[in-house]
Amino acid sequence: MKPESVALYADQDFIPVLVVDDEADIRDGCERILIRMGCKVFKADQGEAALSLLARERVAIALLDLKMPGMDGMDVLREIQAVDKEILTIVITGYATVETAIEAMKQGAYDFIPKPFEPDQLRIVVQRAQEKLRLRWDARKLEEERKKTLADLDMEKSRIRTIIEALPNGVVVTNVQGHVVFMNPAFLWHMGLDPSQMPGQHVGSYVADEGFCNLVTEISQGKRTSPEDMPAYEMALPNEKFILVRGRAVLGEDNECLGAVLIVVDITTMKVLERLKSEFVAKVSHELRSPLSTIHEQLALVLRDMGKDESNREQHVLIRAKEKTQGLISLIGDLLDLSRIEAGAICSEPRRVQVAALLKNIIDFLSARASARRQLLSLHITQDCNPYVNADPLALESIFGNLIANAINYTQDGGEIKIIVGLAGNMVRVDVQDNGFGMEERHLPKIFDKFYRVKDEKTRYITGTGLGLPIVKGLVEVLGGSISVQSTYGKGSTFTVLLPQEKTPDLGSTPPETRHIPRS
Ligand code: ADP
Repeated sequence: MKPESVALYADQDFIPVLVVDDEADIRDGCERILIRMGCKVFKADQGEAALSLLARERVAIALLDLKMPGMDGMDVLREIQAVDKEILTIVITGYATVETAIEAMKQGAYDFIPKPFEPDQLRIVVQRAQEKLRLRWDARKLEEERKKTLADLDMEKSRIRTIIEALPNGVVVTNVQGHVVFMNPAFLWHMGLDPSQMPGQHVGSYVADEGFCNLVTEISQGKRTSPEDMPAYEMALPNEKFILVRGRAVLGEDNECLGAVLIVVDITTMKVLERLKSEFVAKVSHELRSPLSTIHEQLALVLRDMGKDESNREQHVLIRAKEKTQGLISLIGDLLDLSRIEAGAICSEPRRVQVAALLKNIIDFLSARASARRQLLSLHITQDCNPYVNADPLALESIFGNLIANAINYTQDGGEIKIIVGLAGNMVRVDVQDNGFGMEERHLPKIFDKFYRVKDEKTRYITGTGLGLPIVKGLVEVLGGSISVQSTYGKGSTFTVLLPQEKTPDLGSTPPETRHIPRS
């Protein structure tokens, strides 16, 4: 059967060659040489026979004698070209017919070989044709691969687009100026926009929320390019819908910022569950608090009536029971505090508070605990400042009381705890620094999570709820501040709180004296 294209021979190890000559010796001689060159040979003794063979077989090279009885050589050449213009025809000419050879080349012949020729001459001219065929096949293969790659890319692009369009999460992409270049249907839906809205405008034209626009601008302008940095922003939309937006910079080849890509997730269900959980915990805690307090007080009463008797086993059991109820009462207190913070029902009575004076009171209150453990607890005021904050004093007491109590708890006997007050730009900075047990780096990101406690051989026997730091963090954030921690295992920890400074001058007050608690 006739193959469809010459290119089909490209991967085969033989090239089909047709020899057309009226002299049998030449045909047979050529055949011997060509077979040794790895060709498959077809033979014809004149033009008509050659053309009828070409109707059945496809050949890549034709060796054509122009001077043959019957059909004119030049006509045969033209017919061969008409059958398959890809065939490389090498015309065989006598010495006296160079002009004919030139004419044949003009008609589309690929090369010529004068008659009589040596085997080497034939080899050279056929090799040249083979080389040409190979180059042609290679070029065609490359072209086909290029077309296939382009088609693949095109398909990949449309596949990715379909996936993004079908995502349940909203996706919006902006350029450096903060103009929207792409948004998927889920984004329009989450944001309550008209489904026919087109990209092109500044992001503020689609979403009026200031926090959202600031986040987009910050990322688009290349201020958050670190790969680990994926800033998040929570948004409350009308009809009690909550949205979480996370964004990342789109970087070019030279790490330059090209814009931002933001993912919008509906977290309403999560928020509702969180609220229900909080309400449940608050309710249960509230119900448990009174009976537990009663049990605790009654245990204390019984113990007091028993007097102190080291050998009394029952007394030991009651003391343990009283300690346990005390632990439960603390846990309930912490849980109630946390649910109040989460419900936003705290810090409701802000006042102008002098930070150093407040800290001095807390230190006075806790100094007995520190002295009992021969710890040095001191207050330092840097930069000769006397900063104020505008906050609920109860919230501030809870923040610093928790941090200082932790510093006392997680520092060895005879250790040192410094409370340092200063300024950091517009913020009041308070460092609670100890040279106690410290923590391994791996714990630091988790210690503000609820119920997280570091358990090693030094801290194992220290009782606690694991709710102190979450309460501190919650309160600091409600007050518009932040908290961070630095710690080295075996060397100590520093908790740093930043709170917005209240700048209105207060003429009547002076900073409190710095106080050192002596080792006892
Ligand atoms: P609690 O003290 O009730 O366990 P917190 O939430 O206050 O809970 O603290 C969580 C954990 O962080 C503690 O269990 C402790 O391991 C660690 N931690 C807190 N403060 C310090 C500190 N100053 N030094 C070392 N570890 C600390």
